[in-house]
Amino acid sequence: MAHPSTQVPDRRSRPDLTALRILVVEDEDALALLIKYNLEAEGYRVECVTRGDEAEIRIAEGGLDLVVLDWMLPGVSGLEVCRRLRAREASRTLPVIMLTARGDEQERLRGLAIGADDYVVKPFSTPELMARVKALLRRAKPERISSRLSFGDVELDRETHRVMRSAREVHLGPTEFRLLEHLMEKPGRVHSRAQLLDAVWGSTAEIDERTVDVHVGRLRKALVQGDEPDPLRTVRGAGYSFDETFGKR
Ligand code: CA
Repeated sequence: MAHPSTQVPDRRSRPDLTALRILVVEDEDALALLIKYNLEAEGYRVECVTRGDEAEIRIAEGGLDLVVLDWMLPGVSGLEVCRRLRAREASRTLPVIMLTARGDEQERLRGLAIGADDYVVKPFSTPELMARVKALLRRAKPERISSRLSFGDVELDRETHRVMRSAREVHLGPTEFRLLEHLMEKPGRVHSRAQLLDAVWGSTAEIDERTVDVHVGRLRKALVQGDEPDPLRTVRGAGYSFDETFGKR
């Protein structure tokens, strides 16, 4: 199996994330590895450090597009790292997502007050962190992340929330829109129902997996009219994917 860092994104609809560089500051090795692995699978370049003071040195070197910053760190705390980087001209606008302990509302508010752009509460689901990273980068670097995903004759615009198929507009509910967006981000990848629930409905949702089938059914009905080819694949016993051969057959 190819190591994720060696995978070259080659999908037409894939946003160009290859040059985006993320620093992960986390002293729990297993968690740092998990975050790194998942960010690399999304196409980002990832560096990891385990101490607050190491993070400050790396941030001062520049060239980063986003920092995932744990609150509790050896050396200098995440909060202090964030406060200091905001005070320096070169890193004033560097996007920062803080990882905070569960349930500590005060901690989160302090993090935001000190200049963190967003926070994720531990323990978090990986898709949730990936979604936050993507959303923050889209806000901070709109020129680097395309607002449009297109594949074959299907085009999805994240900003206007419009979906077009050839010349006709496809009207989708918010859930169907997010579902299509998620599937189109990784054409060919088969997503299990549980993965789709996590990514589209959110980790806290207590929803039956059959709900996914219902919404895929609605999406398909809106997307495919007459004898148009179906861009969605149902993989028995596995889940759903956006067909990577769609529009190429
Ligand atoms: Ca920690």
